[in-house]
Amino acid sequence: MTADTPVEGRILPAPNSSTQPFWDAAARGELIVQWCEQCQEAQFHPGPLCRTCGSEPGWKVTSGRGAIYTYTIVHQSRTPPFDKLVPYIVGMVDLDEGPRMMSNIIGCSVDEVHVGMRVEVAFAAEVDGIALPFWQPTTEATP
Ligand SMILES: [Zn+2]
Repeated sequence: MTADTPVEGRILPAPNSSTQPFWDAAARGELIVQWCEQCQEAQFHPGPLCRTCGSEPGWKVTSGRGAIYTYTIVHQSRTPPFDKLVPYIVGMVDLDEGPRMMSNIIGCSVDEVHVGMRVEVAFAAEVDGIALPFWQPTTEATP
């Protein structure tokens, strides 16, 4: 799924040795998180070590789906390029695999967004090797 959200003008992440695999996967359209075999737990943000046990974590491809834990609606911004996007939604999403991630919620109006809303990742077109992940309402069938 591709996000149709302007990325131009945003300050892009500068990958390091811990985060490069995440951005490489994002460029392939995959959302990955670190996975600790020792703890059997996923972690995000990436780091050199598991924050629980200190082991060196591997990586795991996620479903790219989750639910909105909380969100805020930004009505005023004087900072380009966000000044042109208002009102926009910034949300924290609990991935089905556990970790919580923050990004813009796109593809739904500020009146529709709600806590618990099912969302899925949508990557913006790659800019300078970075495909930013956003969240949009899921297309999955409701159980
Ligand atoms: Zn661990």
